[in-house]
Amino acid sequence: MSHVMNTYARLPVAFSHGRGSRITDIEGREYLDALSGIAVSTLGHAHPRLVSAISEQAGRMLHTSNLYRIREQEALADKLAALSGMEEVFFSNSGAEANEAAIKLARFYGHKKGIETPTVIVMEKAFHGRTLATLSATGNRKAQAGFEPLVSGFVRVPYDDLAAIKAVAEHNHSVVAVMLEIIQGEGGIHLASIEYQRALRQLCDEHGWLLICDEVQCGMGRTGKWFGYQHAGIQPDIATLAKGLGSGVPIGACLAGGKAAGLFGPGNHGSTFGGNPLVSTAALTTIDVIEQDGLLANAERIGALIRQLSAEALGGVKGVVDIRGHGLMIGIELDRPCGELVGKALAAGLLINVTADKVVRFLPPLIFSEQDARELVERVTPLIKDFLAA
Ligand SMILES: *Cc1c(COP(=O)(O)O)cnc(C)c1O
Repeated sequence: MSHVMNTYARLPVAFSHGRGSRITDIEGREYLDALSGIAVSTLGHAHPRLVSAISEQAGRMLHTSNLYRIREQEALADKLAALSGMEEVFFSNSGAEANEAAIKLARFYGHKKGIETPTVIVMEKAFHGRTLATLSATGNRKAQAGFEPLVSGFVRVPYDDLAAIKAVAEHNHSVVAVMLEIIQGEGGIHLASIEYQRALRQLCDEHGWLLICDEVQCGMGRTGKWFGYQHAGIQPDIATLAKGLGSGVPIGACLAGGKAAGLFGPGNHGSTFGGNPLVSTAALTTIDVIEQDGLLANAERIGALIRQLSAEALGGVKGVVDIRGHGLMIGIELDRPCGELVGKALAAGLLINVTADKVVRFLPPLIFSEQDARELVERVTPLIKDFLAA
């Protein structure tokens, strides 16, 4: 019996090494990786520049402490600020912790305005993490069940529905922020409309609320821009990152600008590991490679190709409800639960995922090539057709 706590329904495979978009299991079988460890391995596996940057950094020093200045962290904060239009960055080790920082910032902002029980508006089907506050913000009753009492201070509304938020504003005067995934990942690849995003930004300004974008899954170039909100040309007050930020090295970040900048002082928040020299170097190198190798444009182009080829292969197939996404964040919604497709794909040498029970999800590394894309669609669409025909 395994001594690992039973928190994941694990597939019966273990990997030994990878290269680019391919990964090999301990028996020597090779797989095409269209999941990137859930949007984490931005540069694919064993990217030579990332390997050498991490190795060099490890040879100098891994960790100091946030009790001291960390040059690599300062450089990364400068870079992220420049890319995002934000002013300052707090570094964490995960997405949940980045969101914890965001929620704390929003509450702190509220208290400074004299609001004693600050409320954050959150969305149905949202996913923000597994810590108590982020679980409470998450819109999935199954994930919350058994962990009550949940953290208070959240009000939930339907996604992509401005009227619902306006209705809350009418009777609730303790709202301090709205928290939104521009594309909901775990919830089933749902996209907020551009008009909604712009109107929401305006509504937040009118009420003095912070707009928090959880970019943990859709950020770091996955949708073809650095951040999902940049497609609508809006600027949130807080944005959170993790998953793809370090291309496999655990690092998260909470970025603040506008009204949310300059709020925290020493003692208000912290992290022992956050933004240490090793993880900051990994993130800096990831960003550098994305820029030098044109991976934003690649994500946009290859993602569009996967959606187009999928639509061609699955067009008219009964049981296919929708094919949607942006860049390399893609969902194929079926009319029935389809979790068993993950095992079938694995047996066929493909790493994919199913989320929200019915949505086949692709989150390939940003280095995915046209050939990878064609191979993915050629191999996965027959599995979907067979499954629906059975
Ligand atoms: C994965 C995810 C999180 C949680 O990140 P962890 O690193 O697992 O804590 C939060 N928000 C979104 C949108 C995510 O996809």
